[in-house]
Parts: sequence; structure tokens; C-alpha cells
Amino acid sequence: MPIPRVAVAGVTGSIGTQTLDVLRSDPGRFELTAIGASGRNPAEVAVAAAEFGVAVVAVSDPDTVPAVADALAGAGSAAEVRSGDGALESLAGEADVVVNGVVGFAGLGVTLAALGAGRRLALANKESLIAAGPVVRAAWRTPGAELVPVDSEHSALHQCLRANDNPERVARLVLTASGGPFRDRPAAELAAVGITEALAHPTWSMGPKITIDSSTLMNKGLEVIEAHELFGPGAPGGPGVPLEAIEVVVHPQSVIHSMVEYTDGSTIAQLSMPDMRLPIAYALAWPDRSGVPHGRIDWSQVGRLDFEPPDTGRFPCLALAYAAARAGGTAPAWLSAANEVAVEAFLDGRIRWVGIAEVVERVLDAHDGAAADSVEGVMHADAEARRVAAQEVAVVAGSAGVVS
Ligand code: MG
Repeated sequence: MPIPRVAVAGVTGSIGTQTLDVLRSDPGRFELTAIGASGRNPAEVAVAAAEFGVAVVAVSDPDTVPAVADALAGAGSAAEVRSGDGALESLAGEADVVVNGVVGFAGLGVTLAALGAGRRLALANKESLIAAGPVVRAAWRTPGAELVPVDSEHSALHQCLRANDNPERVARLVLTASGGPFRDRPAAELAAVGITEALAHPTWSMGPKITIDSSTLMNKGLEVIEAHELFGPGAPGGPGVPLEAIEVVVHPQSVIHSMVEYTDGSTIAQLSMPDMRLPIAYALAWPDRSGVPHGRIDWSQVGRLDFEPPDTGRFPCLALAYAAARAGGTAPAWLSAANEVAVEAFLDGRIRWVGIAEVVERVLDAHDGAAADSVEGVMHADAEARRVAAQEVAVVAGSAGVVS
């Protein structure tokens, strides 16, 4: 059998660098043929290109091309450099499996290109699925296209669903949440939490955007929508689980990554230590498994597994995400875009942590009810939500002051 060719979009980010780790840990199993990045870390891109001997380097920011070309030459890589519109998307033509590790809505093009080219998409970019569900579904129906989630919870569900092949026997999907750094923080203290505290995730090491999303539980809210897109009604090959049957439980140890309950009351869970390299390796190797362990459990160290219901009073973003999912159309796109703008404003010190949920709620209140049935419609919704969110950030910042 030929060695599967892999392309990685977002190669210098958290998912990208961990994908390179997975490839290093299992030499000869996969061939890295192409990588993509913004281009703003030229040295890192060049080192990866040279180490793996990749043929193509795509950069989304055309201004970075001279620096990337210099760095590649310096590192001894002869890779072809592609840049500008469509550069990241062109990676789909170079590989059998495309890992989408781009952060935020900017990852939509890679998702659609990989599925539309009939490749396997190893999807870490949940925002593309959330904002453009129906459009992604259409691309997913392309002959040959496969979507294997890299998000740890959805990888867990994907694995647990293999325990039964009758979709009618799935009763409930249970997503676990670590609860983030503020799980035990009283509501009165949440107004004063700072950026450093919010970036200190108790169990997972991830990029800044998703770490803030974990602290607000917006990440879990987005993951509920993601689970609905991946395993809900109309998802190719899925069990068609309705939104009401997708639940969240807080599990601080992050050892159980999610669970599937069947109609006979039996629950199947996937357990491993929190290590993103496992879901990445799973998505690359599926339907086989990797021979290299990542996040292997030492049972003498696990101790206990705790569970508690999420508190939507202190963490309103989770309820906002369910509301957006129920509203459908472009409401999830608005939710996700508003959240991106609000998180950026928080990381810039322009709004307080509690202001993130306030901004998202105000933006959702202004949602225009449009459908999400074309790429243009989704792009328009994203732009419109960002415009409204920028206004609401100014309002929220003005009313509450900023974190010092
Ligand atoms: Mg996750």
C-alpha cells in the first residue's frame, strides 16, 4: 500500500506542531508533502519544510513570501512557495489527508477544499464547521471525502460510536468539559479575573484563543454545535443525534474525553491522558490505529474521576451556544464570529473576561435570521457579525472599564 501523503495547514500553531510530533514519532508511516501557515514565522516554517523534505509551502500572507523564501533557502529546502488567496486551499491537491489546524473562521477555505477534493479532512478547526455547517455538509458528500474530527471530544465520540453499528441505538452524546481555570471561582470574583489567569488551563496545553474559550465554556458550547454537525441529523454516515440528546458534563481531570450512551443504558467512554497527539494520530491512521501510544494512562496516577453539571449562570456562553444551535441558519456563524472578536478584545485588554459573554449575547440579539446555505451567505454573515461585535465591544468596554 502506498504511504499516505499528509498536508498540514496551520503548521506553526499548536495543532500543527503536535502533528509534526506525531509524524516524527512514527517515521515511515506517513509522508508530509505540503505545509501551510500565515508566513509570519518564516524560520519555523523553513525548519519544518527542511526536516520533512516537503514539496510545497503555502503562505496566506503574501507579504511574507520574501522572508519565507530566504528562510527556506537558508534551511536547505527546495520547496515551491505558494501565496495569497487560495494558497492554503491548494494544499488539498498535494495530499491524501489534510490536517486543518488553522485558527478560527479563516480555516473555512481549507475545510471546503479538502472535502471538495475528495480527501480525508482531519479537522481541528471547529469554527469552519460551526459557521458553515450546511455548506460543509455539501462538500462532505463529495465522493471519497472523509471527515475525521481531531477535537479530542469528537475524536472520543467517533471512537465510542464504533462500539455499535445501529445508529438507532444511540441515545445520548455526552461531551466532557474540564471546567477551565475558573470552575470553582465564585460569580462575584469573575468580573476581576485577568488575562494570565484565563490563559492558565488546568489540564490542556493549547493555543490562546481556545484556552480563553475553555475558560468561558464557549469552547464546550462550540463543541456541542460541532457534535451536532458531525453526528446530528443529515451528517453523512452519522447516527443523526438530535441537539436535545447532546449534553455536557464537567469532568475536571480531562481523562474521559466524551461518552456515547446507547438505548440499553450502556455508556461507552474513551479515556486517555489529555494529549492532542492521540486524536491527531487517530485521524491520520483511521480506520486503523497508530502503533505509537500518546496519552497512555498510568492507573497508579489517575486517582479519581469526578463529574458535576455545568453552571450556566457563571458560564452563560454555554447556554448562548445552545440558543444559537436551536436558532440555526447563520446564528452559529454569528456566535462564533462574535466570540472571536470578543476574545481578541479581552486578550488586548479592551474588555473584561465577563464582557466576552456580554458581547456575544448582544450580537446574537441582533442576529438577522439569515440562512447558511452558500459560502457567500456564510462569508457575509461572518463579516456582519464582526461588524456588530466591534460596536458591542465598544459599548461593553465603555460601560465596565478594562482589566488593568
Ligand atoms: Mg475539544
